[in-house]
Amino acid sequence: YINTNCSFIAKELVDYMADYLENIRDHRVYPGVQPGYLHRRLPTEAPQLPEKWDDIFKDVENHIIPGLVHWQSPHMHAYFPALTSYPSIMGEMLSSALNCLCFTWASSPAGTELETIAMNWLGKILGLPDCFLNEKNDSQGGGVIQTTASEATLVSLLAARTRALMELSKLNPDLQSSELLGHLICYCSDQAHSSVEKAGLIALVRMRYIESDDNQCMRGAKLEEAILADKAKGLVPFWVCATLGTTGSVAFDNLREIGEVCEKHSAWLHVDAAYAGSAFVCPEYRHWLDGVELADSFAFNPSKWLMVNFDCTGMWIKDSTALHRTFNVNPIYLRHENSGKAIDYMVGSQEANTKHDINIINNESSDTKLKERQDSASNSDEGYPISDELYDESDDEKRLHGYDKISTGCAQKIQLENPDKKEPLHWQIPLSRRFRALKLWFVLRNYGVVGLQKHIRESVRLAQKFEALVLADQRFEVPQPRNLGMVVFRLKGDNTLTECLLKRLNARGHIHAVPACFKGVYVIRFTVTSQRTTNQDILDDWNEIKTVASEILMDMFG
Ligand code: PLP
Repeated sequence: YINTNCSFIAKELVDYMADYLENIRDHRVYPGVQPGYLHRRLPTEAPQLPEKWDDIFKDVENHIIPGLVHWQSPHMHAYFPALTSYPSIMGEMLSSALNCLCFTWASSPAGTELETIAMNWLGKILGLPDCFLNEKNDSQGGGVIQTTASEATLVSLLAARTRALMELSKLNPDLQSSELLGHLICYCSDQAHSSVEKAGLIALVRMRYIESDDNQCMRGAKLEEAILADKAKGLVPFWVCATLGTTGSVAFDNLREIGEVCEKHSAWLHVDAAYAGSAFVCPEYRHWLDGVELADSFAFNPSKWLMVNFDCTGMWIKDSTALHRTFNVNPIYLRHENSGKAIDYMVGSQEANTKHDINIINNESSDTKLKERQDSASNSDEGYPISDELYDESDDEKRLHGYDKISTGCAQKIQLENPDKKEPLHWQIPLSRRFRALKLWFVLRNYGVVGLQKHIRESVRLAQKFEALVLADQRFEVPQPRNLGMVVFRLKGDNTLTECLLKRLNARGHIHAVPACFKGVYVIRFTVTSQRTTNQDILDDWNEIKTVASEILMDMFG
C-alpha cells in the first residue's frame, strides 16, 4: 500500500510539536544512552514496502526522542543556546513546504528581496553603521544569511585573502599567487573559536594567536606587537578576527583598539559575535560594539539566542565586491534578464572591475591567455569561436572549469542582452540556499524589538541570579566575571574536583553543561538557554549542583 494520508499526519505533527515544547520539562535533558544504542534497536536495511506512519512514529517515541539532548529544555546549559520559537518554526515549516531555492533573484524574487529587507532591519536593530546596510544605491555594503558563524568566518577570510593577493601581485608581478600565499599571515586571540583556526587551515594561511589579557580579551597593543614582528620577518598581515563574546567565558576583544591597528596595517577586520551579537538588540550592551565601523565584516547567529531556528547566521560586509572577486563564477544557466539589476545572493548588482584583478592573480596577461586558449580550441573538436567583439573572459573561465556545456552562441546572446555589463557578485560558498529569511522575518515581526530585548534581558537576569547563588557558597568560585547569559564556575581547589562534578552532573542527566579551560583553570560553563527558564528552574539546577558537589567533597575528603 502507499501512504495516502500524509497531509493529515503532517497536520497532526504540528500538535505533536507544540505538545513537545509545552511539556519539555518531561524530558530528561541529557539522554542515558550508550554509543551504538540505536544500531542495536533499528533494522540494518531500509524497508522494501511503505510502512505505516503509526509504526514510524512509535519508533520516534521509543527510540529517537529518548536518545536526544533536549536543547529547548530549561535545564540545558551546555554550549550556547540554540533556541527556537513558534514564529520561527512556522517560518521553517512554510519554507519547507515552499522549498524554493534563493540563489539568484530570478530563482525566487521574494526570497531574495525579503532577505535583503530582513538583514537591513536586523542590522539596524543591532545598531550596525549604515556602511553595512544595503539601502543606498551607492552602498557596497549589505547583509546575507549564511548557514553558520564558521562559514561566515571562512567567507570573510577568503575575501580578505583575495584582496591581499591582488595587492601583493601588483607589487610582485613575477610571483604566482601560490608563492605569495606563503607570505600571508592572519590573527585571532588565543580565545577565538576553533572555527577561526579551521578557516585558516582551509585557506592555507598562517594564523597567529594573540595572547589574551587577564579578562580573556585581545588588546590592540599585543596585536600590533605581533604584526610588527611579523612584518619585520617579511610576512604580510592581512586579516584579523576579533571575537565579541568568546566561547569559553563570553569575553569581548577590544574592538576599537583592534580596529585602529587593522586600519593602520591595512588588515581586514572580521568580527565574530556568534552568541553575543543577539545582545546588541539592547542598547545597554552596545558599548562592546564601539569601533565596529572599523570592521570589514561582522557576523552573529540569530540561531543561537534570538529564537530563530538553526540555521541562520547574519553576516554583514562593508565591501561586498570583495566577495565577488573571491567567488567569481558566472555560468550561463544562472544568468537572467534582471542580472545586474537586482541582488542575487549568488549574484549581485555591483559593477565590479574584477577582470583586471583576476588576471593579476593568475599572473597571466589576458592576451597570453586568449592566445593559448584559442590555440588549444582550434585543436579540439568542439572549437572555440571567439570573435573579438563578443569575447568575454568570464565565459572563457567557465569553459576552463568545465561548466560550459551550453552553447557559446547562447552565452553571447545573454551578453548582448545585458549591455550594462554588470558583473555577478557572490555572497557565499554554496550555490543553493534555503529561504531562511522567512523565519527571521516572522521572528522580528512577532516579537518586535521590544519583545526581543525583553527576552535577552530575562536571560541575563537569570544568569545573574545563578551567579549570586554560586558566589554565596564558599565552596565555589567564579573565576571570570559573568557577561550576559553565561556564568563560569568551579569548585575551589584542584581541577579534578570540578571535572568530577561535571561528569556526575551530566551522567545524572537532570542538567547538562560543558567545560571550558583558560590558562589552566578548568570551569563549568552554565549558559541560560531556554526562554522557558524560570526562577524555580535556576533554583532546582543549583540544588542539583550543590547536592552532587557535597557528594564529591564527601567522597574525596570525608
Ligand atoms: N564563534 C564563536 C565565538 C562561537 O561561540 C561559536 C559556537 O558556539 C562559533 C563561532 C561557531 O558557530 P557555528 O556553529 O555557527 O559555526
